[in-house]
Amino acid sequence: MDCVFCKIINKEIPAYIVYEDEYSIAFLDINPINKGHILFVPKKHYERLSNMDLEYSKKFYESFQKFLKIFEEKISKDYNIIVNNGKNAGQAVFHAHIHIIPQYENEGYKKLFNWNTHKLNEEEAKEILEKFK
Ligand code: 5GP
Ligand code: ZN
Repeated sequence: MDCVFCKIINKEIPAYIVYEDEYSIAFLDINPINKGHILFVPKKHYERLSNMDLEYSKKFYESFQKFLKIFEEKISKDYNIIVNNGKNAGQAVFHAHIHIIPQYENEGYKKLFNWNTHKLNEEEAKEILEKFK
């Protein structure tokens, strides 16, 4: 399969790997937003996290949480976690992954999105609630 993250997992192409266990691997993003921007990736190829089977996702989440503790200790207590799901949400690599992006006190908060918000109105809220019925 022509998947860049599978190639990293299989050690066919290099990456700066910072953590690895049976289910997961974490390596430096090749285009970091901040120093220490890491991708946390399931070793099994799933296009998105929601495709992951339940048993695997339990193991994956366990190692994710373990890694977050390491990350907090070694890199930064403050960080953003981002998952881009689907091309319209900015997903470019179609092997599920979680971005962990440190935010540093001395550098100030680096805004990752222009949230461009609007005030929620009743009509919009009802329309969305209806979809969940
Ligand atoms: P996405 O937009 O799919 O959530 O993010 C994919 C991320 O993977 C991007 O931040 C991009 O810089 C990173 N990336 C793409 N190709 C490689 C690669 O070959 N090596 C590493 N380390 N990161 C990559
Ligand atoms: Zn893959």
